[in-house]
Amino acid sequence: MPTALSLPFLTDDHLSLLNEAEAFATSRLTALARQMEEGGPHTNRDVRQILSETGWLGLLIDTEDGGLNLGHTAKTLVLQAVSRVSPAAGATLQASILGSAPIAEYGSEEMRRKLLPEIAAGRCWPSIAVTDPERGSHILGLEATARPSGGQYILEGEKVLVGNAAIADVHCVVVRTGKPGDRHSLTAFLVEQDTPGVDIVPAPVNGLRGFSVDTLRLTRVCVPETNMIGELGDGLDVAQLASVVYGRLNLAAVALGIHQRMLDETTQRVSTRKRRDGHLADLPTVRHRVAEMQHHLMTAELAAYHAARLLDQGKACDPWLHNAKLTAHRAGAASSEHAKQLYGGHAARIGEPIEQLRRDFDLIHAPAGPDDLQLIRLAESVLGPHHPQWSAEHAVRRARRAPHAA
Ligand SMILES: Cc1cc2nc3c(=O)[nH]c(=O)nc-3n(C[C@H](O)[C@H](O)[C@H](O)COP(=O)(O)OP(=O)(O)OC[C@H]3O[C@@H](n4cnc5c(N)ncnc54)[C@H](O)[C@@H]3O)c2cc1C
Repeated sequence: MPTALSLPFLTDDHLSLLNEAEAFATSRLTALARQMEEGGPHTNRDVRQILSETGWLGLLIDTEDGGLNLGHTAKTLVLQAVSRVSPAAGATLQASILGSAPIAEYGSEEMRRKLLPEIAAGRCWPSIAVTDPERGSHILGLEATARPSGGQYILEGEKVLVGNAAIADVHCVVVRTGKPGDRHSLTAFLVEQDTPGVDIVPAPVNGLRGFSVDTLRLTRVCVPETNMIGELGDGLDVAQLASVVYGRLNLAAVALGIHQRMLDETTQRVSTRKRRDGHLADLPTVRHRVAEMQHHLMTAELAAYHAARLLDQGKACDPWLHNAKLTAHRAGAASSEHAKQLYGGHAARIGEPIEQLRRDFDLIHAPAGPDDLQLIRLAESVLGPHHPQWSAEHAVRRARRAPHAA
């Protein structure tokens, strides 16, 4: 039983959503998950179609904008349930939720009214494109540019490892509009996929097969000034709020789903693999390792759902969000190692579910910040310098949009 089910703050609505998500994932994603894995590194479009029908792209979108507005706990439950059956589908869903963050949080009234209902209905898929080929997680160093030209901006450069790049209709792109080093030197723009000069360059990774993390190339791409997300110079804020408030927990939830499945598969394996008069699960060493996996999963779930709960309550909780992502990755990686030991020589066999799960899990480390980055942020929360919290900013923006909901 997932720890989530034991959390005292889950409402009946949460539990019925969890049941719905588990039933949906089992019935609609099981066969597709197998096909995606067997297809090798590729972009799968069926997964977009199937997920579009759920309305879950709008889990965090306000109801006035056509969304479900069910909150971060609900989102975490859904992403965990989907990722348990199909890590690639979970990654796809989380990337679209993340892609909607810049529009929902910083978009103009017109942009929000036009796009958010389409996103919530699954007719328009957004991506967020921040990562620079050379500067990586050093966002302020990124090199893609936008320069003004008669009421328009001309964008030039490349973004790599963009989740959902090849299936998105719109990309929220963060580019340089000012001098390097200045925290207001970046700006976010909405770029429609069919704009001349926008190209998706395939850059496959060997994991989460079916999920696109390709390169977005921008060659003299003209966008109107009205496509600016937020104000000139808001790009770093847009990227950080999206990554901290949406990304940390999204990836933690996908990690939890994969982690839970690693435990499911391993439990099944050791309970049925014969050894002497019984099974592997009878051996104390094996039981100890399974207990370690359960301990890691329970710990990671507590960290994630605690952070989600704080976010839903409108609390400033950035350190908890960093901790949720860090714990989800570290705990899952520890369980992955135990699973490897318990599968012996079969752990790396192509076609063994555990081989795929361990490969998929590895890809959860970098997005929304690798462990080292979470540790840097946690150190700052203790030792300083202290920064304003993105979760507090999110709560303020939410209250401003829908005062009755705050
Ligand atoms: C599955 C997946 C989905 C992704 N989705 C998206 C997406 O939707 N949009 C998007 O824009 N990007 C996305 N990314 C990219 C992801 O955000 C980056 O991989 C991440 O920010 C790290 O950047 P990098 O890979 O260039 O590593 P680098 O920045 O080069 O860092 C490599 C390593 O160097 C060390 N390091 C780097 N900087 C520091 C520092 N300041 N202090 C200490 N150590 C440091 C860390 O150990 C780090 O792991 C995705 C990546 C993956 C794998």
